[in-house]
Amino acid sequence: MKTELRTDITVGDICKGFSYNSLEGRGLYGWSGRLVIQPEYQRNYIYANGRDDVAVVESLLKKYPIGLIYFLKVGEDKYEVLDGQQRITSFGRFVTGQLDVIDANGDPHKFDPSHHGWLLNTPLTIYICEGEGDDPEAEIKDWFRTINIAGKPLNEQELLNATYSGPFVTAAKAVFSNSSNANMQKWKRFVAGDEKRQMILAEALDWVSKGNVRQYLKDHRYNPDITELTRYFESVIAWLGGVFKDTRSEMCGLEWGRLYEQFHGNPYDPDKVWGRIEVLFADAEDKKITNARNIFEYVLGGETDPRLLKIRIFSPEIAKRAYRRQKEKAKSKGVSNCPLCAIGHAANAKRIYDFKEMEADHVTAWSKGGDTSEANCQMLCKTHNRAKGNA
Ligand SMILES: [Zn+2]
Repeated sequence: MKTELRTDITVGDICKGFSYNSLEGRGLYGWSGRLVIQPEYQRNYIYANGRDDVAVVESLLKKYPIGLIYFLKVGEDKYEVLDGQQRITSFGRFVTGQLDVIDANGDPHKFDPSHHGWLLNTPLTIYICEGEGDDPEAEIKDWFRTINIAGKPLNEQELLNATYSGPFVTAAKAVFSNSSNANMQKWKRFVAGDEKRQMILAEALDWVSKGNVRQYLKDHRYNPDITELTRYFESVIAWLGGVFKDTRSEMCGLEWGRLYEQFHGNPYDPDKVWGRIEVLFADAEDKKITNARNIFEYVLGGETDPRLLKIRIFSPEIAKRAYRRQKEKAKSKGVSNCPLCAIGHAANAKRIYDFKEMEADHVTAWSKGGDTSEANCQMLCKTHNRAKGNA
């Protein structure tokens, strides 16, 4: 990226042709038409609270520095504010009589050229940045990441929206970050996060692009047609509505795009599916399952992958294999097949228990992360297993 430091541009220069949309609360243009103050991908002007915006003007009036401002060069003598839009909008409103400053006596002051004229000659410190290389968008994104460290950081999707701003992002935001969208409630049963922070859009893009969001935005950037994006998202949501006859809070935020790809070709009986889900959640409440959020995937997959659930109870097959293994070993050594009896001196030290006199135990305790696998299974006599307690 190329940068140029300019210290010759003044408050007055920027305020020439300053326009402000009071309805949307955002600065539009300045610097005699060269400068777009708030590009569409920027956050809304959040200083317009009568405190932060006034503080910017007061800083200028006290001749305090207001910090670095970054412009992005977008064409021949055309610029966008990359960072500093809120400061520029604040002083622009003051200079154009759209913001009053309260003095120490509590009196409001409008901008008065005979009084504050010097303010217009105050130079600003402006870095002008210009993208280079194969992927200037990625560069822009990196600047954003850096220069937003001081303010509220943009999240991943907000950065992507900035990087690939254009008709596609604009159209997609109108659907997926629009709180008054009638479908938003339904969508948010499955997708976690704040639509205003672009979290629903992020998920929709992730699903349709199979995780290649950046490439997808790059390919579609100048295309106002978002049909594929909306259709795919709606297909996933419709499939969820068909397979699951009810919803649970645990469904919110699961990787539904991946699960849709994996399972949407399978036939399901919604009554059976939901019946199993309720049974398994009851098991989870009894702490027989730890990864309860994987119950949906487990059921969709035909209950073939118990590792998903971290099931706490050993299956009879695992217990029987452990029993046979221990019994053989114990017999050859002439000790009890309960390893805890075997190390004692009591009458049971050489006792060989029947399978039904024993219980399966987690060698590494369940509570310490031990899993319910064969390698972590040992059979203990009931007395020892119960003495060992809830482990
Ligand atoms: Zn024992």
